[in-house]
Amino acid sequence: MPTLSRPGPLCLFLWASLAATAVANSADWTNADLETAATLRDRAMAGTDAFEHVSSLVTEVGPRSAGSAGDAAAVRWGLNTLGTLGFSQVHAQDVLVPHWVRGTAEVSIVSPFPQPLVATSLGGSIGTSEDGIDAAVVAVDSLEALKALPATAVNGKIVFIDQRMERTRDGSGYGATVPIRSQGPSDAADLGALALVIRSVGTSSDRIAHTGGLNYRSDAPRIPAFALSNPDADLLARQIKSSKTVHLHLKSTARELPPAWSANVIGEIPGGALANEIVLLAAHLDSWDLAQGAVDDGAGVAIVMEAARLISKSGRKPARTIRVVLFANEEFGLSGAREYARQSAAELDRHVLAFEADIGQGPVWKLESRVAPEALPAVSQIFKVLEPLKIESGMNEASGGSDIRPLREAGVPILELALDATNYFDIHHTANDTLAKIDAKTLDQSVAAYTVAAWLAATKQGSFGRIAKSE
Ligand SMILES: [Zn+2]
Repeated sequence: MPTLSRPGPLCLFLWASLAATAVANSADWTNADLETAATLRDRAMAGTDAFEHVSSLVTEVGPRSAGSAGDAAAVRWGLNTLGTLGFSQVHAQDVLVPHWVRGTAEVSIVSPFPQPLVATSLGGSIGTSEDGIDAAVVAVDSLEALKALPATAVNGKIVFIDQRMERTRDGSGYGATVPIRSQGPSDAADLGALALVIRSVGTSSDRIAHTGGLNYRSDAPRIPAFALSNPDADLLARQIKSSKTVHLHLKSTARELPPAWSANVIGEIPGGALANEIVLLAAHLDSWDLAQGAVDDGAGVAIVMEAARLISKSGRKPARTIRVVLFANEEFGLSGAREYARQSAAELDRHVLAFEADIGQGPVWKLESRVAPEALPAVSQIFKVLEPLKIESGMNEASGGSDIRPLREAGVPILELALDATNYFDIHHTANDTLAKIDAKTLDQSVAAYTVAAWLAATKQGSFGRIAKSE
């Protein structure tokens, strides 16, 4: 699940002028450290092992939703792989995670023109009774339109939210649409709906449904919730348009099991003179259950592991410690992110910078940051080393990734190496998230960018300051 950057007030023009100053005379790095950054970048572009890491994860583990046997296998894989790659301090940080199982889902049009629809349960949905649910449909095109309906129009019906996600490079189309999935079930239940069906929050035009977590509010009844593939949502919309009343049949055997133990998997490349200070590279180890999780977030796991490994093999030791954290259960509640922040609360001051890879394989197309103003010249210097990778500069308003959000909210500065999301949401949370969607050369460019950023963060003289705490 990506998080999205918001536009901010720091203009590019100002930043560009800061960049010019910094390049002429960098107070932040020695020439040797800047040269190593460029060497690491060029070596990564010549070829990395990142594809092999993703291949290993999806071949030997595969689907790994929170609490599943695959989740436990992924933790073992992470510990073994980090150990084999030469990381230090490799360990598991136990995390209690929810354990939801999908079971089977059936959605079909009963009338006026009966047809089966391709659908999947939303992550965390309750199931239906054995008989399922048969009811008339009330269609809306947004959450706002739903909330504007009187309860009499919704009570006893199935709500269909037909809002299409827009394809964008920065993934902002996802952020704009995802509330229909996360909040839709409780908003529909508030009005007496029996169930919710949404158009998939995804851009695939294939007959595959996109799952993803819902968030039941504690003060609303829980109702079953499903996503239709985009072509099936089109079909339902056409029948609704041509007929006064459309009836659906829904059935699901989804259910919640007792919480289970998972773990954040952690490994380090030890620092030198500033070994006590940490540069944190994040990705998430879990995936949804429908596919192998190659793109979400096998790619991110491979990018951050490989970036750190390339630094460890460079022959030069970073001043700061580079810590890779493969987080547990990002997809259904950020359990690992919360646990890491809780256990690290006393040492967050030592976290100098954090960044995450969780929006697919890339390429990286933009550098954003959220650092103290006095560290902006350093960000500009990092940008200069990244620029040959066809990366643009962005704002100092980055939101980073979901797993590092608790750190950002506690004041830890972040970078955001924005991965190109144009095609990511064709695959995201679907059965098509397989190794076939991974391109080794694209992954290499992303590794090159993450390696440069990690090396420069770990060798910078002076910190990136602290950022404003938020909630
Ligand atoms: Zn993800």
